[in-house]
Amino acid sequence: MCGIVGYVGNRNATPIIIEGIKRLEYRGYDSAGIAIINKEHELKIFKEAGKIIDLERSLPAPNETSGNIGIAHTRWATHGEPTTTNAHPHTNCCNTIALIHNGIIENYKILRKKLEAEDHIFVSETDTEVLTHLIGHFYREENNLLLAVQEALKLVEGAYGIAIICSDFPDQIIAARKGSPLILGIGKNEFFVASDVSAIIIHTKRVIYLQDNEIVTVNKNNFEITTINNKIVTAKVSEIDWDVSSIEKGEYKHFMLKEIFEQPKSVGNAFRGRLIPELSTTRLGGLGLTEEELRQVERLHIIACGTSWHAALIGKNIIEGLARIPVEVEYASEYRYRNPIIPDNTVVFVISQSGETADTLAALREAKSKGARVFGITNVVGSTIARESDGGVYIHAGTEIGVASTKALTSQVTVLSLLAVLLGRMRNLSSTYGTTFIEELIKIPEKIQRILDNNEEIKKIAGTIKDSTNALYLGRGVNYPIALEGALKLKEISYIHAEGYPAAEMKHGPIALIDKNMPVIVIALKDVIYDKIVSNLEEVKARKGRIITIATEGDETIKDISENVIYIPQTINVLQPLLSVIPLQLLAYHVADLRNLDVDQPRNLAKSVTVE
Ligand code: GLU
Repeated sequence: MCGIVGYVGNRNATPIIIEGIKRLEYRGYDSAGIAIINKEHELKIFKEAGKIIDLERSLPAPNETSGNIGIAHTRWATHGEPTTTNAHPHTNCCNTIALIHNGIIENYKILRKKLEAEDHIFVSETDTEVLTHLIGHFYREENNLLLAVQEALKLVEGAYGIAIICSDFPDQIIAARKGSPLILGIGKNEFFVASDVSAIIIHTKRVIYLQDNEIVTVNKNNFEITTINNKIVTAKVSEIDWDVSSIEKGEYKHFMLKEIFEQPKSVGNAFRGRLIPELSTTRLGGLGLTEEELRQVERLHIIACGTSWHAALIGKNIIEGLARIPVEVEYASEYRYRNPIIPDNTVVFVISQSGETADTLAALREAKSKGARVFGITNVVGSTIARESDGGVYIHAGTEIGVASTKALTSQVTVLSLLAVLLGRMRNLSSTYGTTFIEELIKIPEKIQRILDNNEEIKKIAGTIKDSTNALYLGRGVNYPIALEGALKLKEISYIHAEGYPAAEMKHGPIALIDKNMPVIVIALKDVIYDKIVSNLEEVKARKGRIITIATEGDETIKDISENVIYIPQTINVLQPLLSVIPLQLLAYHVADLRNLDVDQPRNLAKSVTVE
């Protein structure tokens, strides 16, 4: 879930691996630790509950922490509280092996019982610690560390990315993965292992993405990849095509704010090269489907979690509207265990910013096992979902670091709207509509910029609701999922309880909550259901609710019933979410910032949810 970084080479490992896990801080974590092997071939472990800075402060003098090999971890606790004892690395009984782990060992209880029944003494409450003892157990039997790791991993159920060092092999790291990302970074006489490229990109852009059930054994001069069954693997070296500036905050106070402001560009990148104005349609080459195959599609399932799930709901609305193809949207965590019915000619799309979301990946595998063709909509090139899909679409949003997703959503929605037009134009959608769509889409980046230019005004409005304890978000049609998204953003980073509702549903329950203390944020844009939403607003006003309206530029009458109005430019209905979400992102951001909260690392949350 969180961070793994390892280094072996000629340099001092400690500053490199600490800097590496700092680059992964944004993913959210609750404790951190490192293990190094020093010049005397002693294994040294330092760990601390809290932030990496706390770990750094607790370290002894540099000469006591230096060595040419080390591993570092940030833990997002799943089993056992975030204490120093539970922090990784964990060791075997004789303290020769140190191991760090991302993921969950599901059968840890049984394994722990067995190991305790022998002579193994556990010190932590984590699931992870069984791995160290299990490897220690086989190492004692086999006297071959790689074999011991292989034997141990064969007994393990669950997900892991692990890195191991052992004082008997003072120049070697062993790392393995199953269901949790892990890469090998290739330098000059030095190697890195990491759970994410951003941890090591300042050192090398040449990486190998390990596959599930692969194990890499690496020293400063070379490496070898085997499977868990000890078969040698020839892996492909990939070249990372982005650089370190994209993972730095620059002039912005937070990554989230930077990423909100990047949206004119990121949305443009999502549709660049994918429009065919002369045919009034779009292209999504990554799907690898022929026109014939696209015409045969009778149904879509779109599977996702969190913000991506909101994008999916918007996608459903647009695809059903434009292509007249039925779309089912479902949470990945439900889909994977539901034994879903996937009729013939159904195409499954899974959406995940990171491409590593555990539930979404499992849903992908479930759909594939039932014979469906599955396509991924992801941001991270080379991610597991991207690799395991039958094809897909990269959203090209650039690295998203803020835990609260912003630019990924608008890029996902852009891609889904391209898909809707692509499928629609092969069916009943007119060329006139296709042309209008393209013309309007091209104008979206500039329109987003106009909303961003209003940032100071939105910040002032945020000041008026920053002390609220609840908030209600209302929208209809294609903007209903944006109401959900606005509420989610506020919850995630400001810890204010918020709910999103279809505006007309309010009178079936939530209206009971409305009083003078309840901010109600309403998306009321000039389109066919405008008058209906205004009636819903009147109902709120009659109960003294405080109304903040997202309205279409030029709509003066809405001011009469709103305490505040945030104007956004006009566009066609299907593209409205790309604009209406921007003020809600800014609103949530400023509320959290005005409450002095840690916007980029909200409590309890992690960026890439690689556990179930
Ligand atoms: N399940 C492990 C633990 O709770 C690892 C969690 C993580 O991915 O950071 O210690």
